[in-house]
Amino acid sequence: MTDARISSVYRQALEVIASVEPRVAEATRQELIDQRGSLKLIASENYASPAVLMTMGTWFSDKYAEGTVGHRFYAGCQNVDTIEALAAEHARELFGAPYAYAQPHSGIDANLVAYWAILAHRIEAPGLAERGVKSVNDLTEEDWESLRRELGNQRLLGMSLDAGGHLTHGFRPNISGKMFHQQQYGTDPVTGLLDYDAVAAKVREFRPLILVAGYSAYPRRINFAKMREIADEVGATLMVDMAHFAGLVAGKVFTGDENPVPHAHLTTTTTHKSLRGPRGGLVLAQEEYADAVDRGCPLVLGGPLGHVMAAKAVALAEARQPTFQEYARRIADNAQSLAEGFLKRGCTLVSGGTDNHLVLLDVTSFGLTGRQAESALLEAGVVTNRNSVPADPNGAWYTSGVRLGTPALTTRGFGHDEFDRVAELMVEVLSSTTPGQTSAGAPSKASYVLADGVADRVRTASAELLDKHPLYPEIDLG
Ligand code: PLP
Repeated sequence: MTDARISSVYRQALEVIASVEPRVAEATRQELIDQRGSLKLIASENYASPAVLMTMGTWFSDKYAEGTVGHRFYAGCQNVDTIEALAAEHARELFGAPYAYAQPHSGIDANLVAYWAILAHRIEAPGLAERGVKSVNDLTEEDWESLRRELGNQRLLGMSLDAGGHLTHGFRPNISGKMFHQQQYGTDPVTGLLDYDAVAAKVREFRPLILVAGYSAYPRRINFAKMREIADEVGATLMVDMAHFAGLVAGKVFTGDENPVPHAHLTTTTTHKSLRGPRGGLVLAQEEYADAVDRGCPLVLGGPLGHVMAAKAVALAEARQPTFQEYARRIADNAQSLAEGFLKRGCTLVSGGTDNHLVLLDVTSFGLTGRQAESALLEAGVVTNRNSVPADPNGAWYTSGVRLGTPALTTRGFGHDEFDRVAELMVEVLSSTTPGQTSAGAPSKASYVLADGVADRVRTASAELLDKHPLYPEIDLG
């Protein structure tokens, strides 16, 4: 239902923007039209509430506030203190975490803060304790030299990219794969599931300082109690990156051993995926890591984004409402419906299904690469992203899969029947697509041919679903 107040705020805001740079106003208006008119299945995206969006558009953006609540390097931070403390309080309460740090600008930043906090907490130059050295001011040049050596000589073990891990979990081209000696664990080649015995064996052999759990594209739940046992065996710090499934933890779909927060030493997350907040990050930690995490700025972060921390506080307050638990349950139920929709139409899913918010569809059975599938689907108004599958024959650029997530369309109100129809429409597109050729006439992994009329037919059918569940129904831009 349109809300005249909210519509009026956005109309006026666009007018103000247009008076300075009309092309930005126009692109902003068009983005809403495009998002309204497409089936968004990108597993890492969502639609934040108008309250969250509005909170980001304020003068908190103008304020520098390096430091921590009550200890800033700039004057006049009393209101930033209020919102940062609120964001941290909501995060602690929502996730039952002893400590929360609300400053990371993104998920990657949250992981960097966590890595450096672990290094700062765990690594000492040899002999300091015996010499009674308590302050960094008492370190000698030799101490610094040996500290630098120690810092640059640590080990990290994370899930491999093709099994569903993230770049920041030790992938070579990312700084995490360069600052640590890294190794990766994968999934079982037959079941596609995490094999805890294999992870434990790798941990015993490699003896990492940091064991990372969490994923971007693994369609299953993880037993974090088990991962902690595995880490404890060699004295490793368990860091869980719950960026993708934080909403399912907040909404109490993942509880007990599937809730990472009580089991991990540190848990990081983004706030904009299933958690449905502004773009940003959080670090949650057990008390012993709190001091080290608190130094995220200036250790690896610049000035905190006050407007985004304020929006995190609003989003986390929303996630503490009972309705969010219902939302999280529907995300998981809808992922099941989507998976069943593909399976009953003969498709191949990595790990054979899902029990979280995402489905990884192997498109090789359609004779396509992920790149071709992603492009053909986009032409038909279905927005997905291509993704590697385990031991991907097409590599990380072309890939063999498309990753699909339910958080965004669940926010719009889609349920079982709609997700079944989405699977049907996607299968129609993919089975009507054939690989194209390069300009030299060779087989191409990128170009594709979609049979005539299919894109229009699917767009029309999607519009029926989308019209029933309008995006931002409160907002009428006229
Ligand atoms: N961690 C995981 C598991 C992710 O999936 C992502 C983003 O896709 C990130 C971290 C990075 O988040 P950001 O893009 O906010 O830096």
